[in-house]
Amino acid sequence: MTATRPTQHWLETEQRYDSGVFNKHDRVIVRGENALVWDSEGREYIDCTTGSGVASVGHCNPEVVRAIQQQAATLLTVSQLLPNDRRAEFLEVLTGLLPAALHRVFLCNSGTEAMEAAKKFAVTATGRSRFISMKRGFSGRSLGALAFTWEPKYREPFQNVIDGKNVEFVTYGDVAALEAAMDDSIAAIIMEPVQGEGGVRPADAAFVRAARELSQRHGALLILDEIQTGFGRTGKMFGMEHFGVVPDGITLAKAMAGGVPVGAFVTTPEVADKMPAGGHGGTFGGNPLAMAAGVAAMRFMQREKLAEQAAEKGEYFMRRLREIASPKIREVRGLGLMIGVELKEKSAPYIKALEEHEGVLALQATPLVVRFLPPLTISHAQIDRVVEAFARVLR
Ligand SMILES: *Cc1c(COP(=O)(O)O)cnc(C)c1O
Repeated sequence: MTATRPTQHWLETEQRYDSGVFNKHDRVIVRGENALVWDSEGREYIDCTTGSGVASVGHCNPEVVRAIQQQAATLLTVSQLLPNDRRAEFLEVLTGLLPAALHRVFLCNSGTEAMEAAKKFAVTATGRSRFISMKRGFSGRSLGALAFTWEPKYREPFQNVIDGKNVEFVTYGDVAALEAAMDDSIAAIIMEPVQGEGGVRPADAAFVRAARELSQRHGALLILDEIQTGFGRTGKMFGMEHFGVVPDGITLAKAMAGGVPVGAFVTTPEVADKMPAGGHGGTFGGNPLAMAAGVAAMRFMQREKLAEQAAEKGEYFMRRLREIASPKIREVRGLGLMIGVELKEKSAPYIKALEEHEGVLALQATPLVVRFLPPLTISHAQIDRVVEAFARVLR
């Protein structure tokens, strides 16, 4: 154990110097291995948060760790103006997972930055500036991405600077509303295949197909935000595969590099070719460390068939959660290992009880929903432990 200084000191130091935007829990996480993490007191937790779906290949996945160690001793940084072997490999592996049409990649460092890129590419590709986004949708926190994020609590303090006038929010799943909002001034329709922050709500297939058809008819782009749904989380490599739809662009981040910050906007040549050289950029995007981690993570996902594992384990997890049959549960829903349990009361006290009394970390998604985003490598025995713990805290 690395706990050479008292837990209280670390907690207080982080509280004192942090900006204050996070509601911090009162334990210090110091180590992780696959589906488990440990705090500074040596307590073990099953991690169903994974940094909001980042550690899909498991914490400290040995193949990712080895790739990082090797790359760190080889080359840590080089601008995207200079081609790099790891970056080329990353691009080849990533595009190999995607439909052939999606093979032009803008690399960045986070989901929000991927959404920023999507927005700019949509503007240059269409010469338009209006967007359709989804009620309950989440796209990130920068002023650009925030414009697509529905939650008024996130948006309203910045309403005057985010140019929200250019975004219309329609009800996720309402084809008639989407049709009514659509016209030839729209640059893009933006949506998540499964709304994550909005409460773990899988899209309706007919709605996604209608969005594809309407965007084509009106010369707009369809952009799917796969930041949380990508890389096997929903039981397919990408969420879009559930709907048989190929969009004009997708945004990626979270699980792509096994825990190292990375982001990408992937689009078609038709869209990419309209963005002039120098029209967008960034210092850290495509850095060799993230690329090496990403190559290792994606190869692991492919070889271990993590998407198939997520499909099977997700079914099992949801079946077991439904068996709890607590009167406090309104609905168990999700796709693959992206699972939400909507309660009839606030979820926060139950999430806290799971953490404090059961050694299980879970996330909130809207005030009523408990969200489980475990590593896709979680074992069935660990799923059983989580479900049994959840049943206990509900009682
Ligand atoms: C997490 C998330 C984002 C923002 O990604 P960051 O890396 O936190 O900037 C955007 N969209 C969706 C769907 C997300 O889940």
